[in-house]
Amino acid sequence: MSVSHYFDTMDYGPALESDLDARAWLARHSDGFGHFIGGAFTPVASGTLFDTQEPATGKLLAHVTQGTPADIDAAVAAARAAQAAWFGIGGHARARHLYALARMVQRHARLFAVLEALDNGKPVRETRDIDVPLVARHLYHHAGWAQLQEREFADQVPVGVIGQIVPWNFPLLMLAWKIAPALALGNTVVLKPAEFTPLSALLFAELAAQAGLPPGVLNIVTGDGATGAALVAHPDVNKIAFTGSTDVGRQIREQTAGSGKSLTLELGGKSPFIVFDDADIDAAIEGVVDAIWFNQGQVCCAGARLLVQEGIAEDFYARLKHRMGHLRAGTPLDKTIDLGSLIAPSQHARVQKLVNIGIAEGAACYQPTISLPAGGSYFPPTLLTNVHPASTVATEEIFGPVLVAMTFRTYDEALTIANNSRYGLAASVWSETIGLALAVAPALKAGVVWINSTNLFDAGVGFGGVRESGYGREGGREGCYEYLKPAAWARRQPRAASADTSAETARGAAASQLPPVDRTAKLYIGGKQARSDGEQSRGVFAFDGQPAGEVGLGNRKDIRNAVAAAHAAAAWSGTTAHRRAQALYYLAENLSARAAEFAARIVALTGVSAAAAEQEVDASISRLFAYGAWADKYEGAVHVPPMRGVALAMVEPVGVVGVICPDEAPLLAFVSLVAPLIAMGNRVVVVPSERYPLVATDFYQVLETSDLPGGVINIVTGAAATLLDTLAAHDDVDAVWAFGAPALSTSAERLSTGNLKRTLVDYGLATDWHDALAAEGPVWLRHATQIKNVWIPYGE
Ligand code: NDP
Repeated sequence: MSVSHYFDTMDYGPALESDLDARAWLARHSDGFGHFIGGAFTPVASGTLFDTQEPATGKLLAHVTQGTPADIDAAVAAARAAQAAWFGIGGHARARHLYALARMVQRHARLFAVLEALDNGKPVRETRDIDVPLVARHLYHHAGWAQLQEREFADQVPVGVIGQIVPWNFPLLMLAWKIAPALALGNTVVLKPAEFTPLSALLFAELAAQAGLPPGVLNIVTGDGATGAALVAHPDVNKIAFTGSTDVGRQIREQTAGSGKSLTLELGGKSPFIVFDDADIDAAIEGVVDAIWFNQGQVCCAGARLLVQEGIAEDFYARLKHRMGHLRAGTPLDKTIDLGSLIAPSQHARVQKLVNIGIAEGAACYQPTISLPAGGSYFPPTLLTNVHPASTVATEEIFGPVLVAMTFRTYDEALTIANNSRYGLAASVWSETIGLALAVAPALKAGVVWINSTNLFDAGVGFGGVRESGYGREGGREGCYEYLKPAAWARRQPRAASADTSAETARGAAASQLPPVDRTAKLYIGGKQARSDGEQSRGVFAFDGQPAGEVGLGNRKDIRNAVAAAHAAAAWSGTTAHRRAQALYYLAENLSARAAEFAARIVALTGVSAAAAEQEVDASISRLFAYGAWADKYEGAVHVPPMRGVALAMVEPVGVVGVICPDEAPLLAFVSLVAPLIAMGNRVVVVPSERYPLVATDFYQVLETSDLPGGVINIVTGAAATLLDTLAAHDDVDAVWAFGAPALSTSAERLSTGNLKRTLVDYGLATDWHDALAAEGPVWLRHATQIKNVWIPYGE
């Protein structure tokens, strides 16, 4: 082609990045790669090898070892052996190590970028300009947290040995997101990369050893899903951090239920990209390109559902189709391309199948006539219009370069369609009216919202989802807490086995022949006392076996009614923090007015001394005050990522939370669990102490004389295990907190998988409810809230 041709057409010519260094590194490992355990690679001969291919050509890149349970054992043992010393060297020393890793990544940036493009099939322009710089940024940022750990996280300790499982779409970036906070804060790691893309993790490990990272601190075991499952199952792993599909996330939640392992899940999404009619349309079109064709759409937070306001839809689609015709697909090492190859033929087949389903369900499919390289797993950029919000392609994660478009008329309709998804990872909002955009952002069910932008990431700004997109955050201060636990909780011991209540239950049956000893306390639902659905009650007995009264025996229907009442009280989540604080102070005031009555009830039920009971009531009043105080002080933050813009970290309530209270300190534990939740705007369904529920039923009078709206606190008495099962399996409950016998923790975690609700459980370890360090404050507020980061770029 002549210069004048290019002058006329303004076409790019090819601009190939050299792969010499990457190929030379691969050639040095042509025998294959072992696992990286205890600071060295295991011998290749000792394992079974599998191949990793170049998606763009299907050619072999390297042989990698399939991890076995014995390999996982060895890696976990190495991590365990290294952990105490790694934490022990202190924040400053760890900061220096992370700083060295960041420098190492920058020194080898080109090698990492090319290797990643080869192994994954994505454009080197993206690995060079996005993945690798963000990897370095994560390591630098977390070097900073290591340095500040002793000051900023003084009341926290590391979780221990962390198992981390990452997917193939951002292999090195996900490694950095996972290991940077874990290592910075004194944990050690066993990481399993995806079988499609293990190479950048192996290069990282090799260079980390050269950079002086102590042996055992970071271990890499390669393999497939079975290797991941062995890591999840390992009894000496304290936490699993997983990024991948919602299905596997669910399996992991089930597999770890009751094990005491903490868990963060970064799962799939079907994120809305909402364009209002006053948006800068050309900017929004470029936004779409970034939202759905970045990394061939293989992005968990891809803006995969385009919602355009009806009046501009035709124009928008026309301009979008024009732009699609100018996208360039090509070999990943060509620096001028927009789209590389999908990860594998299997993914190509999956994307094609979903597109076919979309067409069969009535969608109109547009694909521009752009040339795609032969071989590999190239898929054309695709737009599906005429799509119904309930159709398969509008609800399923496609994980490919396929945009699904729908229209809306009004603001309310936009929100309804946007939130009509089981996922809640990210959202993008386009409007030139800042007031409109800032009103939409809090109303979206998503962990991240980008205003007039999309796919922005930074180490200082937390990332993560809600609903079936998982829980936990990566990045920022909130991401650090995922790798720490409160020191006061680390000291908890198993609670003394609860006295056997079967004798009492038997006496309860007998008691029904006795003349009534007290009124039967009802349930408390929607601000009113309500008879239990089954019209059944059960006897309550004091510590000495004497009958103390009767309470309603709640059942599944009662829980469902209580959840419905909690949903009807959704306005509570939108009330001002000042109003919530006032409500808590007023509860404290009312409790104080009845302090003697409550103390007497506690003495009569539990047999503690009068002084101890008075102390429990006083502590409960103080706790209500504490959360009244926190209600308008536990706030978000304004992040300043490296761009012209800000990211607002907004603290939001989780929603409707089910709470199971333990038997000890029946009033104080009840207050300690309920108060942080309602202070932050949640609505609760509480099952009070099974053994001493009368303390909570007495609390109805405190609630009735308060100004708390009906439905914010609902109380259902009865058998904790049965009621918990209904709460934990209920799809309209957003979180469960279960305190008491270890079996309750297992059920809460196992049954939470349906809608992937968040859980806070104690595994049968007793909290000292009188110890404010353990039982009060920000640690509870963190569990009562989730952070939404709203990105707002600015400039002309
Ligand atoms: P998976 O969820 O299967 O894989 C993610 C990681 O988990 C990989 O390292 C995988 O290993 C590992 N893994 C698989 N099974 C288990 C298990 N039982 N226990 C522990 N670890 C396990 O995703 P896929 O790669 O199979 O992709 C399937 C679909 O998931 C995609 O089409 C896409 O829709 C979605 N996905 C979403 C991602 C996101 O970020 N939200 C990322 C990747 C995929 P291995 O790869 O070796 O099998």
